[in-house]
Amino acid sequence: MPDQMPSQPTIDLQELDRMRPPDEARAIVLDHVRCLPEESVPLADASWRVLARDLVAPEDHPPFPASTMDGYAVVAADGSPWREVLGEQMAGALLDVEVTEGTAVRIMTGAPMPPGADAVVRVEATEPTEGHVIIHQEEVGAGDNIRSIGSDVRRGDRILAAGAVLGPAEIGLVAGMGINPVVVRRRPRVSVISTGDELVEPGDAVGPGQIRDSNRFSLVTALRAEGAEITYAGKAPDERAALEALFAERIASDDVVITSGGVSMGDLDLVKAVLFDAPDVTVHFRRLYMKPGKPLNFATAGGAGSALIFGLPGNPVSSLVTFELLIRTALRAMAGMPAIERPRVPVTLSHEVAPTDRIEFQRAIVAVAPEGHLVARATGAQASSRLQSFLGANALLVIPPREFPYPAGERVDAILLSAPVQA
Ligand code: AMP
Ligand code: MG
Repeated sequence: MPDQMPSQPTIDLQELDRMRPPDEARAIVLDHVRCLPEESVPLADASWRVLARDLVAPEDHPPFPASTMDGYAVVAADGSPWREVLGEQMAGALLDVEVTEGTAVRIMTGAPMPPGADAVVRVEATEPTEGHVIIHQEEVGAGDNIRSIGSDVRRGDRILAAGAVLGPAEIGLVAGMGINPVVVRRRPRVSVISTGDELVEPGDAVGPGQIRDSNRFSLVTALRAEGAEITYAGKAPDERAALEALFAERIASDDVVITSGGVSMGDLDLVKAVLFDAPDVTVHFRRLYMKPGKPLNFATAGGAGSALIFGLPGNPVSSLVTFELLIRTALRAMAGMPAIERPRVPVTLSHEVAPTDRIEFQRAIVAVAPEGHLVARATGAQASSRLQSFLGANALLVIPPREFPYPAGERVDAILLSAPVQA
């Protein structure tokens, strides 16, 4: 019998091109996210990396009872004002003395308590004399000014959860516990490809009808802020064979492949066609019920790598807004971070906003009003080609379609991209 062609699964084009609400699109993307593999890195290189596993304290901290003050280590129950000073206890080395009633040891902050002593009297409450110290404090309580063993961290405590980002406090905690190297998630490998015959390099002269590639630089910068490793960043022409070859190459080695341009209805919008036809690539949706960013192709490669593929629209604002809503979320999920979404808060409009026929994400500045609530002002014209609408913006206002305008004073949701400013 002759070999039969494997039967193509029938593709419901209507469903593929149904405009997905952003939340539905995000859920589909998250469904295809796989956690990045773990790797072990020296602590010195682990800043801002994401912990792959819970960390349990291997020891108590502090490991010895330590003074929290500069002063004198004494026996608390000793009532006498005069004490013989047996020596000086610095941080880092242990003095070989025993503090008893009638004696004291000069002690520095962080130094271990000498045997016998159970309290520290602050230096401000003392007066040194020849070989002795006078204690000017009436009541000295056992345990005063001492950090006991394990008072900061108990051995066996979970000090950090998987998914934690190693910022200054986290990495200090890990260092203090002597954990080095540390197991983190590998950084996502991401390629960024700007497509379009009209694109030239920012340093080159533009001919008639040409524009400079800006998306590649915007997206690479947004990706770096998320800790991605940029494996490739370049341009591709509106040419089928070139796009096919580039996709095949990037899919084979990257976790995420991002293109911009070539996904609308134009004759040379070939990204859409190439993804649709590529063997081992499944396209999940091609349109979003949002503005900007309607024509967005999301696909996955079926092969071993199982890369996520985002064909973003070409307009600079569209590509950045869709990066925010879909790709950033996916990158954080891949790293196993618990908080993958930006905070979404109600804000009061400071001016009228006209809705459109899709959920619009308007770039805006959210400020804390003197009364404490949040007030939002859009950043001027919201054209998807106008990158200035992102300048100074710390939020995306979520403006669902409706028949009549949103008046000043109405509350809408805002996705906070950074902290609100002071009004
Ligand atoms: P397209 O989605 O390819 O039809 O592109 C939509 C619009 O975005 C066109 O005006 C393009 O010139 C513009 N555009 C596409 N790619 C880029 C890019 N990499 N940088 C700046 N503008 C772009
Ligand atoms: Mg194009």
